[in-house]
Amino acid sequence: MPKSKPKILLIYTGGTIGMIKDYETGALKAFDFKKLLKRIPELHLLDCEIDTVSFEKPIDSSNIKIENWQNIASIIETKYQDFDGFVVLHGSDTMSYSASVLSFMLENLAKPVVFTGSQLPIGDLRTDAKENLITAIQIASLQENGSSVFNEVCLYFEYKLYRGNRTTKISAEHFNAFTSPNFPELAESGVHLKVNKELLIQNNAKKTLKVNLALNDDVLILKLFPGIKKDVLVSLLATPNLKGIILETYGSGNAPNEDWFIFELKNAIKKNIHVINVTQCSGGSVNMGQYETSQQLKKIGVISGKDITSEAAITKLMYLLGQNVSTKVFKTIFETPLRGEMI
Ligand code: ASP
Repeated sequence: MPKSKPKILLIYTGGTIGMIKDYETGALKAFDFKKLLKRIPELHLLDCEIDTVSFEKPIDSSNIKIENWQNIASIIETKYQDFDGFVVLHGSDTMSYSASVLSFMLENLAKPVVFTGSQLPIGDLRTDAKENLITAIQIASLQENGSSVFNEVCLYFEYKLYRGNRTTKISAEHFNAFTSPNFPELAESGVHLKVNKELLIQNNAKKTLKVNLALNDDVLILKLFPGIKKDVLVSLLATPNLKGIILETYGSGNAPNEDWFIFELKNAIKKNIHVINVTQCSGGSVNMGQYETSQQLKKIGVISGKDITSEAAITKLMYLLGQNVSTKVFKTIFETPLRGEMI
């Protein structure tokens, strides 16, 4: 019997990739993606069967919120048995947040979910969309001995495949728009697709996919800056319903060690607001206790984000809050890598 071709589901959420230019105003606007796909004959040359589903109203990813993430996760859950891989077409602006949160929502994933998009629309003469889309589909269809090679949420952009929850957008200009500061690429596309097999999450096929839809967005990110005022911290920590805060600190997790600063954070932690320490450096890890300026943070129970990105930290926080993880174990669970998002 001939081997059947892998089946791939393209999920179009919006973003530049599927937009066209309004020649009167010059602005990019959403377009019917199914119609656009018909204009890419290359897709028929791929050795897989492709089906597509689109958000009813495609969005610029700057508008993404919890409901949209739940929508993507639900589509994958409903279609999980019918497809071998999923390609999520998404605006690049918040793609790292979405890839991160989906990695937490899709527990025991045993098939590839590849996020991709582009800097220029797919209809543009100089577009980067075609290469991104075609290779993302090939990656999602890649199989070895009957099972998928990639079993996690990835992000493919400009010849590189990354672990999704390790990425961050670094350029609004270059085609090479993403990087993964603390984790190597999973694969690189050149004449051949070079896969770094030793880095991949092993196939979880024996476990059943569990889709965790509950998320809680009563959270915030505070990037420290020299001269930050007490009033600013006090008013942020008094945000109604606040459950957690990502504190973007300096270097290896350092912050002012003035009394008021530590006092306010200590008070917040007492009120069961989780405080997570993430470095604002583009690479490296938090190591509380290394300097005097982080010793107090460690003492009062601040959680270490280690080498996590801010995108993965804020979405992991939303996910763990959504799971109603008890205060007692919250710190331990946050500091444990759940989907390869930290060391
Ligand atoms: N603003 C767009 C978005 O994120 C940019 C892009 O598609 O790359 O939806």
